[in-house]
Amino acid sequence: MEDKIKNGKLSLEVTTTENRCPIGEKVGSGNETEGKIPVISCEGGCIRGEIARLAANAVAKEEPYRRGCHGEFLTVPHSKIAQWMNNSEKIVLIDGCFLRCHGRILENMIGKERLVQFDALSHYKKYTDKFDIHEVPEEERIQVAEDVADWILETLSGREIEDGHTSTFRMNTIP
Ligand code: SF4
Repeated sequence: MEDKIKNGKLSLEVTTTENRCPIGEKVGSGNETEGKIPVISCEGGCIRGEIARLAANAVAKEEPYRRGCHGEFLTVPHSKIAQWMNNSEKIVLIDGCFLRCHGRILENMIGKERLVQFDALSHYKKYTDKFDIHEVPEEERIQVAEDVADWILETLSGREIEDGHTSTFRMNTIP
């Protein structure tokens, strides 16, 4: 792995595919036509990634947002989902914690200007001694994720009104 790091950047190779996801093609195409804004999360396997994932689902239920797919965006560049995300005026990204696993990838792919990044943990500030999602009861996980989603929607809304444009980069981190 060390030989893949050069000038502070880690390079990965992805095996290409000719396959397409039929429903992904339909959804990506429709979302692009309708000008929806993609929302993705880091999808980390711990409680922090799970809360980010649930929050992304909740944000994507509101207008003009819709759920993007990081897998297709990163590894199926000719898919309609990737095309929609690439052509979108911005992408909302919810990372689970300060490691910003997806933020550090996407800012090199689409640029910081079009990426609106959030660190979910910086908002709820809990569970740092836990890994397994089941260490937090389901009802509590959902409640925390909905609180994160409300914060993100409020921030997105306020920023657009205050700044008058939608490409301002916002990042929330904890030390
Ligand atoms: S940002 Fe945090 S929660 Fe998300 S994948 Fe990385 S380490 Fe896991």
